[in-house]
Amino acid sequence: MVVVMEQRASEDEVQHIIATLVEQGFDVHRSTGALRTVLGAVGGNRSFDERLINVMDGVQEVVRITEPYKLASRTFKPERTVVAVGDVRIGGDEVIVMAGPCSAESEEQVETVAAALAGAGAKLLRGGAFKPRSSPYSFQGLGEEGLKLLRSAADRNNLKLVSEVMEIGQIELVARYAHMLQVGARNMQNFNLLRELGKTRTPVLLKRGISATIEEWLLSAEYILSGGNTDVVLCERGIRTFERYTRNTLDISAVPVVHKLSHLPIIVDPSHGIGLRDKVAPMARAAVAAGADGLIIEVHPDPDHALSDGAQSLFPGQFDRLMAELRIIAPAIGRSICVEPVPRRGWGA
Ligand code: PEP
Ligand code: MN
Repeated sequence: MVVVMEQRASEDEVQHIIATLVEQGFDVHRSTGALRTVLGAVGGNRSFDERLINVMDGVQEVVRITEPYKLASRTFKPERTVVAVGDVRIGGDEVIVMAGPCSAESEEQVETVAAALAGAGAKLLRGGAFKPRSSPYSFQGLGEEGLKLLRSAADRNNLKLVSEVMEIGQIELVARYAHMLQVGARNMQNFNLLRELGKTRTPVLLKRGISATIEEWLLSAEYILSGGNTDVVLCERGIRTFERYTRNTLDISAVPVVHKLSHLPIIVDPSHGIGLRDKVAPMARAAVAAGADGLIIEVHPDPDHALSDGAQSLFPGQFDRLMAELRIIAPAIGRSICVEPVPRRGWGA
């Protein structure tokens, strides 16, 4: 249930309600908005009579959350969440673009691409050091060495770093280098991993599972939120359907659906969503037009020789052109997108 406090409720009144709910076995999550405090009570005594709370001093109303996910719902938190990754704010007016190679491969590759991306207006560098590959014979990533390369390229180019964590044992290591931890599609329902990420305070990028419904995806977010980590960004990356002309079917309808159901930001990954380089830009444009809070795009300085996902990776020049197009689309729906790219370092047009 959600307890909405009156605007003028005192701190003592809030504390009294919290104590009462805890006594009844509820886990209480507090959200203090600009206008009022809202308490989300999860679990607890099923037969608890909520009217007991309704009549207490300082309470405006008690609302039952009917959705199976509670803390991720708009009922619990009507205003949108803005997730801060360092000084980058995801979920505000600005559309945030993350870009980079599928995998870190070499110092030269990572450095070249990071400089190009920063010049074009990306805010986060993406890149995997631990790769979830469908085949055990495919390139599995450079591990810690890859994280080091990615982090130093990100720092040199004033970018934040997002990188994937595949298992509990990697969290500490990846969080030492990355500003944001990516949970890949194949791990969306690795509930033990999600629980552990709930204990960290590093923002999490939670990709949608290959065949997950939006409800299942929001329940996965709930695992992280209920552990106390409120910095969760959702990422639509395409789902598996009967269609075979594209790698996945990018479900852009997830953007407005999630925005209605949840306060969490949602970004779109058109690269994995469609899997074909020439179709990445149209899907990226559509995602921004649909209201996505950001994009994550694979870009490689030499995609034809990439060790993973080359066919869906953009050349830096294509990324540049896409950013210029997004700068026209975003304002049309009241958003901005890195209006003044930082001066370019070492990448011609
Ligand atoms: C990736 O981002 O490179 C990746 C493996 O993504 P997904 O988990 O969406 O397949
Ligand atoms: Mn990839």
